[in-house]
Amino acid sequence: MQKYDIAIIGGGVLGTTISYWLSTLYDLKVCVVEKEPDVAMHSSTRNSGVIHYPFYLNPKQKKNFARAAFLSHDMWKVLAREKNIPWVQGGTIEIALDEEQHKTLERYMVLGKENGLTEEDISILDSNELKQKEPNLNCYSGLYCTKEGSTNYGLLTKAISELSKKNGTDILLKHDVKNVEETSDQVNLTFSDNSTLTTSFVINCSGGNSLDIAKKFGLLDDYSDLHFRGEYWVADSDIKNLVKTNIYTVPRYLEFPFLDPHWIKKANGETEIGPNAVPVDSPEAYDSFITDIPTALSKISDIVTGSAKKLVLNPDFISLVSKEFLSSISKSAMVERVKKFIPAIKPENFPKRGTSGIRTPVISPEGNFVSEMIEIEGKNSFHVVNYNTPGATGAPAYSAFVVKKLQEKGILTQPKNQKDSIWNFNEIIG
Ligand SMILES: Cc1cc2nc3c(=O)[nH]c(=O)nc-3n(C[C@H](O)[C@H](O)[C@H](O)COP(=O)(O)OP(=O)(O)OC[C@H]3O[C@@H](n4cnc5c(N)ncnc54)[C@H](O)[C@@H]3O)c2cc1C
Repeated sequence: MQKYDIAIIGGGVLGTTISYWLSTLYDLKVCVVEKEPDVAMHSSTRNSGVIHYPFYLNPKQKKNFARAAFLSHDMWKVLAREKNIPWVQGGTIEIALDEEQHKTLERYMVLGKENGLTEEDISILDSNELKQKEPNLNCYSGLYCTKEGSTNYGLLTKAISELSKKNGTDILLKHDVKNVEETSDQVNLTFSDNSTLTTSFVINCSGGNSLDIAKKFGLLDDYSDLHFRGEYWVADSDIKNLVKTNIYTVPRYLEFPFLDPHWIKKANGETEIGPNAVPVDSPEAYDSFITDIPTALSKISDIVTGSAKKLVLNPDFISLVSKEFLSSISKSAMVERVKKFIPAIKPENFPKRGTSGIRTPVISPEGNFVSEMIEIEGKNSFHVVNYNTPGATGAPAYSAFVVKKLQEKGILTQPKNQKDSIWNFNEIIG
């Protein structure tokens, strides 16, 4: 039976970046266990690919996400340049459609400054200035962030996992963790083919399954999660360059973690609109199709117990899910929403679907969506749950925060030095 010092469950962007830091700082026997035939087969590839910069994140409610996104920007840029991975810094305009939404943009300017952004990074443009910059865009005003752009997080994850592997990390593919058995000083993992592995410590970064894995360790029993598929439509060549910048809208429902439709300039040169939020029954239900709202809602009711029930009974939530659901079955409903700010588009300009991805927001025992990632320690384990957007952007720095936390808890020693690395640990955690 193989014995490791640390086993990381999940070969997404988070698990692989943590493994990279460990491989540059320590001589430990580390493995990443991933159930798929390759790393980054779920959210870390199936996302909008937007490089976020934290002008819109409240540093009190989303401190870790905001700090990590701020610090990670240049770290990813270095890796993308070195590995020839697309990195397009075309900027994002977050638009307000009326005066009320404009107040949110003003608030974002304050939050952005609190997060360390400067006036070179963010500014508010009025409708005339926006007409000059983007003649086909219709709105009241917009916050322009120059640092945002697009990349391919799947390729970045593969690149970092290769570097980690070169430093000695074992990337164990097709290893689907089914059972966990803890003794006083070690954890035995059993995989779906009944093979096993023993480790002194586990770091759980299993994305949409991370709450289920934490529960196998007897943690977060009162929490629940829901799964929402985000779908996209690809613009045809007639309209894909109507607007050259990513366009985000001020969210209509600040209290619910759904994103409103965006106009996304992908790193591969395509333009997409989306995502919506279709309730589905698992973190990997990319193709299942539900044909009516009652079925969609009963799917949620079927799978929820405890805290999620409180949320599902909330009438605002039901109405939101119904509206989101409608825009998912109907391409024209999604196009209608985007038409509010890019009037020249039509449904027939979006002949094919893009790659869908699934978000898994976690619900607290009180029945609310949790805004930050949840970090929780077990006897021989550390878990990151609810690692949602902008998690791909923030992974290089956030993974260093996790390593620092394990040092502070005495689980990892203080490293003497860092081996050759594309990123400097002390600069990030300093
Ligand atoms: C639709 C959508 C759009 C998004 N857009 C953006 C964006 O534009 N910018 C941004 O910064 N972020 C975005 N995000 C968020 C970002 O993609 C995620 O925060 C990030 O990818 C999460 O990484 P992860 O490593 O935690 O999870 P994942 O990438 O899901 O990795 C978890 C891994 O664990 C593995 N695993 C699960 N269970 C087991 C098991 N039992 N045994 C072994 N392995 C297991 C899975 O196979 C998977 O590979 C978006 C997310 C979605 C869904």
